[in-house]
Amino acid sequence: MRQPMVAGNWKLNGSRQMVSALLGDILSGLGDPLTAEIAICPPFVYLQEARGALEGSGVVLGAQDVCDEDEGAYTGEVSAPMLGDVGCRYVIVGHSERRSLYRETDELVARKFEAVMRAGLCPILCVGESLEERNAGVTEAVVARQLDAVVELVGPERIGEAVVAYEPVWAIGTGMTASPEQAQAVHAYIRGRLDLAGVSAGSVRLLYGGSVKPENAVELFAMPDIDGGLIGGASLQAETFLAICRAA
Ligand code: PGA
Repeated sequence: MRQPMVAGNWKLNGSRQMVSALLGDILSGLGDPLTAEIAICPPFVYLQEARGALEGSGVVLGAQDVCDEDEGAYTGEVSAPMLGDVGCRYVIVGHSERRSLYRETDELVARKFEAVMRAGLCPILCVGESLEERNAGVTEAVVARQLDAVVELVGPERIGEAVVAYEPVWAIGTGMTASPEQAQAVHAYIRGRLDLAGVSAGSVRLLYGGSVKPENAVELFAMPDIDGGLIGGASLQAETFLAICRAA
């Protein structure tokens, strides 16, 4: 059995005031313990504050990115052991915004994935195709290339312990969600691809991300290979985020 998961990716949003107000509202609105695991991924500088706010709640903390090196002369970077030190359990790696805006390659993403595992944390590996790639019919080839780079570096056992998020780039922040059937098809492909690589893929949690809202979450999460969501815009408001968490 795979425990459903909902992770809120705040991206470059937030303030100390927002951390206490939004997390306060989320925790008070949660009510009875949910079946889904819930993670919040605020910007690095608010991790400590968020950790304090989430203390004892069962809601866990994640980071949005990480350095592939553990320590040394890497000005401006934050390492996986540091993220573990401030209480993170999850780290997002390979988000499409990192891949496209900051030119992260499949190889760098794989090294970041390895760094997260080395520190005993759990990577949330993002994969997904652009609109151009979907229209060209190469969605599966793109996702396979992104997965294979990680499997090659860390081996099938390790990837089996991670979470994979399928995020079609054309659906992120655009309001254009993949239909449940479109998302399910790629999720099933990902599980099959991992199986082929020797990963015990039946136990790997696969999240969908890209304009998930309370209105589409139930249908998406009902698909057999979709185990929850990675939520951007809708994670910035307690009411919408809670509605999505309840759908998982
Ligand atoms: P979105 O972002 O929900 O705002 O589309 C998802 C993500 O980028 O993780």
